[in-house]
Amino acid sequence: MSLKDKLEVLKNETSKKIQAAADLATLNQIRVETLGKKGPITEVLRGMKDLSAEERPKVGAFANEIRDYLTAAVETKKTELEQAVMDKALAEEAIDVTLPGRQVPVGGRHVLTQILEEIEDIFVGMGYQVIEGNEVESDHYNFERMNLPKDHPARDMQDTFYISEETLIRTHTSPVQARVMEKHDFSKGPLRMISPGKVFRRDTDDATHSHQFHQIEGLVVDKNVTMADLKGTLEVMMQKMFGADRKIRLRPSYFPFTEPSVEVDVSCFKCGGAGCNVCKYTGWIEILGAGMVHPDVLSMSGIDPEEYSGFAFGIGPDRVAMLRYGVNDIRSFYQNDVRFLSQFKGE
Ligand SMILES: [Zn+2]
Repeated sequence: MSLKDKLEVLKNETSKKIQAAADLATLNQIRVETLGKKGPITEVLRGMKDLSAEERPKVGAFANEIRDYLTAAVETKKTELEQAVMDKALAEEAIDVTLPGRQVPVGGRHVLTQILEEIEDIFVGMGYQVIEGNEVESDHYNFERMNLPKDHPARDMQDTFYISEETLIRTHTSPVQARVMEKHDFSKGPLRMISPGKVFRRDTDDATHSHQFHQIEGLVVDKNVTMADLKGTLEVMMQKMFGADRKIRLRPSYFPFTEPSVEVDVSCFKCGGAGCNVCKYTGWIEILGAGMVHPDVLSMSGIDPEEYSGFAFGIGPDRVAMLRYGVNDIRSFYQNDVRFLSQFKGE
């Protein structure tokens, strides 16, 4: 067989192999075997030295022609295979834009946070400052400065968690009163503040008691502050929270740090006073404790009770939330069950 015939056979056989190549790796292998330095075409070109001077250029030109032909065939096949790989990937990764999107759960503020902020807004609107108190407090501020000396029987109702003999986690937000009063400069105006936060008692947890709950302390001290100011202020708060028709009533009570002290009831927002399960058929709902700041509490904070007077109140936002939303177990607020909390997501 002449060199030219050999080249012709090689061209046909290789062409078939290239066409049959199923993937890029196989194609590359064919290319290296046929067109590489150790391939048959290079071998033919090397063997040309044995040919006559007349034949040499013809065979050489033919060999080059075949090499170019096969190189082009490999390139064409390569493009074809690459396109097939691309088409397959595109088909597999196709996005169906008509499918519904994945739901991303959006959180919301805790129902108690919402109530706290609502009450803060009411008082900020009346010129009150919002003060943050300490959750870890000393016996001195938590009890003694609130007129509860060491042997005072009212301490029993406020047993709590002690860190040491003199350090505890606060049982009420009232110690903030002492801390604010002793620092207040009355030459810059009256003292008006509220202080929301967590308080802690050694209560056995049940539907209406939790060892941790919230209070919002309120305090106003100035010259000529009277019980009428207290009543008016609380009335505004209750009307903003429970509706413009709400009335309040004050009942005598006792707290060591106020004198006189009152329990404050609000007319039932559900039945309007006719009687229902929310107000236990009395028409009134017990909502907070308040009173005029005890003269001794003022004195202990360096304020002259002959010159200044003030009122204080404490409201439980947990109870407000329970009343407003008909929640009958305070523990629901602290269990973080999303099924419960998501009902209060708001807008
Ligand atoms: Zn009622």
